[in-house]
Amino acid sequence: MGQILDGQQLANLRACNLKKEVADLKKQDIKPLFCVINIGNDPSSKIYLRTKKRRAEAIGIEQRVYQLPVDEKQVYLLALIDQLNAAEEVNGIMIQLPVPEQINLSEALDHINPEKDVDCLTPSNVGRLWRGDHFVEPATAHGILALLQHYQIGLRGKNVVIIGRSSIVGKPLAALMLEQDATVSILHLKTQNLSEYTKRADILVSAAGQAGLVTANMIKPGAVIVDVGINRIAGKIVGDVDFAEVAPQASYITPVPGGVGPLTVESLMEQVVKLTRRNHGR
Ligand code: NAD
Repeated sequence: MGQILDGQQLANLRACNLKKEVADLKKQDIKPLFCVINIGNDPSSKIYLRTKKRRAEAIGIEQRVYQLPVDEKQVYLLALIDQLNAAEEVNGIMIQLPVPEQINLSEALDHINPEKDVDCLTPSNVGRLWRGDHFVEPATAHGILALLQHYQIGLRGKNVVIIGRSSIVGKPLAALMLEQDATVSILHLKTQNLSEYTKRADILVSAAGQAGLVTANMIKPGAVIVDVGINRIAGKIVGDVDFAEVAPQASYITPVPGGVGPLTVESLMEQVVKLTRRNHGR
């Protein structure tokens, strides 16, 4: 049976350290504040916003939510971003995904001041990520690396296979893992014969959002399995990996829930604090 990669426990541990860091900053009159722009009423977004707010409050970070109507016009969104870019007390800005159809997300992201870009999605920060001189990292990728590091799972020379090529998970994770000398393959919906690749993985990350996608016959015995997927099946949250079947063959495996999820939220808070420090020249 693979050892559990306990994301919740690590998130709690890191939160304790971050809380102290925030308390120290506050003594110097530096207050981490980040703003989330939520457009419309996506039910999952509401849950994520609540989770973030709880975590932020526990650490001493202020989170402000700007709730915009589902039919908000692009021009007003850009004006709000301009206002937050200019506000000195704001250290981080993020747009909660998904956004309604009329919103041009790329244009909106391009508008965020890279120094306040907590999600690392502005073109210059994405460029820095691939160039290896980034000052902010996307939360999920950062959280996964923290988890592997905590369990002393090295990346150098390892075959890493990532299922999913999104801008928020698959691509940035590939960039950060390449930086640590892994050999990375990214698979996606058009990849033919997934298991041909997954069977070669020392570390397999699944971020597809498809329950039951990864089965025991797709993995190499002793592989490390990181399940990013969040799928709601019959009122229950499950990942992409068939845990019962895969765990006995893995050396390490993340549970869902309690694996990558808590670390994503924790990592986001760490990015806010990092940007706060940077914005104050610390
Ligand atoms: P997305 O829909 O933007 O991207 C999914 C990717 O998976 C795409 O590149 C697609 O090509 C690929 N894919 C989907 N089905 C596939 C299949 N059958 N075979 C091969 N590739 C396939 O999603 P996303 O925003 O990257 O999120 C992915 C999953 O991770 C979702 O379940 C999401 O809820 C979850 N997620 C979890 C966390 C966390 O903290 N645990 C953070 C972000 C996203």
